[in-house]
Amino acid sequence: MNQLKFRKINIDSYKPGKSKLGNIKNLIKLSANESALGFSSKVKNIKNNKIKIDKYPDSKCKILRKQISKTYKCNLDKIICGAGSDEIIQMLCQLFLTKNDEVVLPEYSFLMYRIYSKIVGAKVVFAKEENFKISVKNIISKITNKTKMVFIANPNNPTGTYLSIKEVKILRKKLNKNILLVIDDAYFEYMKKKDYQSGLSIFKNAKNVFILRTFSKIYGLASLRVGWGYGPKNIINELYKIKPPFNVNKLAQVYATESLKDKNFVNRSVKHNQYWSRKFKSFFDKKNIISNETSANFFLLNFDFCKLSANYVLKKLEKKGIILRSMESYKMKNKLRVTIGSSKENNKFIKNLDHIL
Ligand SMILES: *Cc1c(COP(=O)(O)O)cnc(C)c1O
Repeated sequence: MNQLKFRKINIDSYKPGKSKLGNIKNLIKLSANESALGFSSKVKNIKNNKIKIDKYPDSKCKILRKQISKTYKCNLDKIICGAGSDEIIQMLCQLFLTKNDEVVLPEYSFLMYRIYSKIVGAKVVFAKEENFKISVKNIISKITNKTKMVFIANPNNPTGTYLSIKEVKILRKKLNKNILLVIDDAYFEYMKKKDYQSGLSIFKNAKNVFILRTFSKIYGLASLRVGWGYGPKNIINELYKIKPPFNVNKLAQVYATESLKDKNFVNRSVKHNQYWSRKFKSFFDKKNIISNETSANFFLLNFDFCKLSANYVLKKLEKKGIILRSMESYKMKNKLRVTIGSSKENNKFIKNLDHIL
């Protein structure tokens, strides 16, 4: 008998935040950290029928990369675009890792780091966090001579905590020079703390740091799947060999380019986020729900000191059409994550949660 032979991959596949609840209409989705204000009106005003979709898109995303390099004052030749930063993570894992290599990750971190690392056969080693904050000391203690990469998101998802400029620099300094440090800047725009800077602004010229950026969060283009990576030219050159030729579609390239030109939209989004972060935080404090300080566009909610359990609250909110993220796939007990939504959504969320409690 012939039997197909293929690998069994020992991982849990990614489970996205829920986006449907039976037949309930007018859902409020606060489960995936998407943009609260939609996307820029500059993007809305693009004339779709002028965009040529019968031809393959530009494989190298030249126009988009030019705009990125202008907006973020960084080197055009050190940028590579992907179908979400997700795909950049995948390509990095393909480039750096083989069987028996090790990757060190904070215990609570974006699930795609562990998924792509394991797919290429690497061993994932988790470094404990301290009070839900990445611990530089614990990362360093997990390094062996097999370690090839360390991933961190700053601010971190799902914990909502961050490392200061000083802490990030210490991490890089203490890591062996031949280990790649990947810093995921997915939420950097929301961070206005004085002791914080994005990975890109700290490490623009580093030889062993790679930066991830996305259009899925503050730019509100999650459904188009666009992100980018920034790093040393020699790494970028190899990634271009791995990259599927037409990975970022034409609409995504055009929309992403346009979205970068609207600084006003980004500023409005940040202001909205700061206003609602304060409101959320003081509400959670009042209700004995422990949460992180404001750093990104979401909060991790710990129900250990609340009279109701996370799961009970999750289910009750779902009955009202409000979706939060269960933290079970992150192996976090009695916790939920909530994204800051539009003013209307936030008011409904607070009103309903208040009622449940
Ligand atoms: C949401 C998120 C991303 C974005 O992924 P895309 O593939 O660009 O949509 C990346 N990193 C982290 C930590 C995130 O939370």
